[in-house]
Amino acid sequence: MAPSSTPATPTARPRKARGEGQWALGHREPLNPNERIKKDDNPLNVRDRIENIYAHTGFASIDPQDLRGRFRWWGLYTQRKAGIDGGRTAVLEPHELEDEYFMLRVRIDGGALSVAQLRTIAQISQEFGRDSADITDRQNIQLHWIRIEDMPEIWRRLEAVGLETTEACGDCPRVVLGSPVAGVSVDEVLDGTPAIDEIIKRYIGDPRYSNLPRKFKSQISWLADGPYETNDISFVGVNHPQHGPGFDLWIGGGLSTNPRLAERLGVWVPIDEIPDVWEGVVGIFRDYGYRRLRNRARLKFLLADWGVAKFREVLEKEYLERALIDGPAPDLPAKPIDHIGVHKQIDGRNYVGAAPVVGRSSGVQLGKLADLVEAHGSDRVRLTAYQKLLVLDVADEQVEPLIAGMRAIGLEARPSAWRRGTMACTGIEYCKLAIVETKARGEELVARLEERLKDFDAEISIHINGCPNACARTQVADIGLKGQLVMNAHGEQVEGFQVHLGGGLGMAQGQTSGFGRKLRGLKATAEELPAYVEKLARHYLDGRTSKDETFA
Ligand code: SF4
Repeated sequence: MAPSSTPATPTARPRKARGEGQWALGHREPLNPNERIKKDDNPLNVRDRIENIYAHTGFASIDPQDLRGRFRWWGLYTQRKAGIDGGRTAVLEPHELEDEYFMLRVRIDGGALSVAQLRTIAQISQEFGRDSADITDRQNIQLHWIRIEDMPEIWRRLEAVGLETTEACGDCPRVVLGSPVAGVSVDEVLDGTPAIDEIIKRYIGDPRYSNLPRKFKSQISWLADGPYETNDISFVGVNHPQHGPGFDLWIGGGLSTNPRLAERLGVWVPIDEIPDVWEGVVGIFRDYGYRRLRNRARLKFLLADWGVAKFREVLEKEYLERALIDGPAPDLPAKPIDHIGVHKQIDGRNYVGAAPVVGRSSGVQLGKLADLVEAHGSDRVRLTAYQKLLVLDVADEQVEPLIAGMRAIGLEARPSAWRRGTMACTGIEYCKLAIVETKARGEELVARLEERLKDFDAEISIHINGCPNACARTQVADIGLKGQLVMNAHGEQVEGFQVHLGGGLGMAQGQTSGFGRKLRGLKATAEELPAYVEKLARHYLDGRTSKDETFA
């Protein structure tokens, strides 16, 4: 007779805890397909195959693991096929969603471009990218319609002027954000640029840090004029009462579907130690980061489990082998700083910040901008993390002619509140994950609001996102819009947005940075969006007790 149950034998081994895929705890075997791709071949190696094989054999010959995996380490994503609606995004196979062209992200650390670099991007856009060029909210420029056959020549031209696409995407250290006014601001005490340059020189393209659990976003800036609370790591300028100017370390921010603001580690870092500390934090992420589930792999999840005290202890003991200096909190601005308009530099010249609409530019526009910048005596352009751009080093007498010249090519240094505060992610035009259109809707929204609420006198941020991934920072806008399908008045499923209200970053101490409220029922179809935002804006204008009362 068979026994009714099988008792555990004394020799049965206890089941090993599943863990989260942390390398430092011995979980080295890849636990998901992305980890397998990275283990099978370091993604940086795919550059060689692109130049020597795929560029000659064409799109159809590309190994799918390279195409949808490793190519990202060189800034290349396949582009969404035109005409596929957002309702099919989640149901189609990747190969059904993509066409044979690529989005190419050019990493522009610190957002700093010379005229020669700007001109090169403009020419590449016109020659190889059907004149596409978008300024992203990570200080990058993205081109579209790129063919694999053209990549060797594109890299040759970019690298000839000191630009690169290395680790512009992928599970690696992405572009390092910097202040667009680094080195020229009257408010800056210490320029963080040397630390950015050192990190790029030492670690970008370094195979030791090219296989992280997920992307790793950095910012180094004396001024808190970027989205420092949404990065994996940020260094924000602070004066230490004994040690002088240095940087305050923030860790573990990130938005997407489980948003979390970065937290201060409570340490003061002198500028020449930033690269080592940055390497230590990247090392912790590489070794202890969660690799089992992609949606739990960002550094924020590790920090949430460890807390800042343990994170600091591991950083000091295991990675730096020394204690860090306790530091004070930095003075944070009362509101985000976007640098739009005309401002004095520390050397008496000026910088001029101007707005395209929702970051959309073109090769032609960037080429004309390069000519203008040069004609008005400057060689320096900076991109901002708000999809805007600055021209530095403008003499007093050149300011108004430059502004007029920029206006003539579609860049406005005195924009409306709507144009100034609206950003949009890539959206359904090119992005394979998108559910809704964003850029065109953003342009339409700005035009409609400029017409209907011409004299709107407050600052307002509107962030339009094509899906829950929040590339345009849904949760930290006055009006954050998350693309999804919604029901219209006739009961039909159409493109629309979940609305988040009252989020923000960069609040003064005593106030709270935070996420906008997402209320059930706070949704608008894409068609009703302009009227919906107009209603919100009028409601704010009618209800405010003074001009100082912010939308949030
Ligand atoms: Fe694409 Fe979504 Fe990111 Fe927009 S938010 S760029 S649609 S992944």
